[in-house]
Amino acid sequence: CGIVGYIGPREAYPILIAGLKRLEYRGYDSAGIALINDGGQLNVYKEKGKVSNLEAIASQRDTTGKIGIAHTRWATHGEPSAVNAHPHVSQSGRLALVHNGIIENYASLKEFLKGKGFTFKSSTDTEVLVQLIEFMQQEYGKDLEGAVVLALRRVVGAYAIAVIDKEFPDKIVVAKKSSPVAIGVGKDNGEFFFASDALPFADYTNKLIYLNDNEVALLKLGQDIEIRNLDNKEITHDIKEVDIN
Ligand code: GLU
Repeated sequence: CGIVGYIGPREAYPILIAGLKRLEYRGYDSAGIALINDGGQLNVYKEKGKVSNLEAIASQRDTTGKIGIAHTRWATHGEPSAVNAHPHVSQSGRLALVHNGIIENYASLKEFLKGKGFTFKSSTDTEVLVQLIEFMQQEYGKDLEGAVVLALRRVVGAYAIAVIDKEFPDKIVVAKKSSPVAIGVGKDNGEFFFASDALPFADYTNKLIYLNDNEVALLKLGQDIEIRNLDNKEITHDIKEVDIN
């Protein structure tokens, strides 16, 4: 199980696939990827089994885009299958989310969201979270990062998550509690990598930030990283220069 993501001037797909392979040692049963292409279209590919199975289907399709998130899954809720693989997409089709960990109160959140008219495609705990973020966007008219904070306040469990929104193709929101996430800041800033550990982006940058629990990072193209906690308090982190290899 692992997550990896990229936003910047480069094509995301090869970085994400190579990154997933560097996370294979963690073990997994399926893999998936979400990319937003330059036309603003969200493309999601997922498959049971190896990262090479995912590549086999994705390589027949549009894999362009300079923003993307990817996942290797170790199933906890719902059998290993393409439908249950991540990324999960919100009801409107605008959000895609990857998650490592467990949403312990997913059953009650799912009932709540069903009452609000949401339907579910998978039997995962994770899909509940992407729908809850969309609900917060609809209900409170929040930007993506604000909606993620509101949603995570309702979540009991462990998570490393990343969310993209095709309405805002210039940002990725990353958050964690009890599951690891390393963020890599590109050399010229404004370019970001993240993953479950720093190995997937060791060839690109040695400037690292490790998020703490209950922190939400906004990775916005061309800007400095912004980190807040679930009380919306701004947090500053020193960027560490580390010899990853
Ligand atoms: N609980 C989630 C699922 O079963 C995430 C599992 C993981 O960490 O890979 O889909």
